[in-house]
Amino acid sequence: MSSIAPLGSGSDMTYEEAEGLLRPLDPSGETVELAGFVDDSIVDGPGLRFAIFAQGCPHRCPGCHNPTTWSRGDGRVMTVSQVVDRVSRCPAQMGVTLSGGDPFFQSRPFALLANALRKAGREVACYTGWTLDQLMESHDPYVLALLWMLDVLIDGPFVLALKSLDLKFKGSSNQRTLDARESMRQGRAVPMPAGRWN
Ligand code: SF4
Repeated sequence: MSSIAPLGSGSDMTYEEAEGLLRPLDPSGETVELAGFVDDSIVDGPGLRFAIFAQGCPHRCPGCHNPTTWSRGDGRVMTVSQVVDRVSRCPAQMGVTLSGGDPFFQSRPFALLANALRKAGREVACYTGWTLDQLMESHDPYVLALLWMLDVLIDGPFVLALKSLDLKFKGSSNQRTLDARESMRQGRAVPMPAGRWN
């Protein structure tokens, strides 16, 4: 399991460095703990999407809809290759959403998974309870690699007092829908353009 290290390191990891970090890893030997799948989700992003739910979340947001995903060890362990195979059985145009739990709590296998799905032509989105700013300052290189491998990042914890049913694909108004790769390129939060995601 990869965990978020203390803040404050900053990072200038490039996309090429992120790819180089992941290249030696074997998807058939790398395991990920999941709470489950939904292979025809219409609530985890635009269109019909394959949703993958990570097991394990340290945020414990009051009002969380998925508290059964909080504890590590209660999920199903699969290899990254098995998950990629499972997604490949769904129509090629379907996007994939990583949710949870928090995928960044298992940053290494999820970075490998996101990279494989992206290379297979999938739009990969991810929910996290950390903010982009916190993730960018992580000491864990796989956190940064996962950020590079995403198309869309929905960041920040669910805050019950800021809950709104009017928000598109997010639960509370503090959460942001970001262009993950452009945010990494620019080193700051870049919102997704108006359209499908907001
Ligand atoms: S980050 Fe998401 S899964 Fe984790 S406690 Fe908060 S709402 Fe629940």
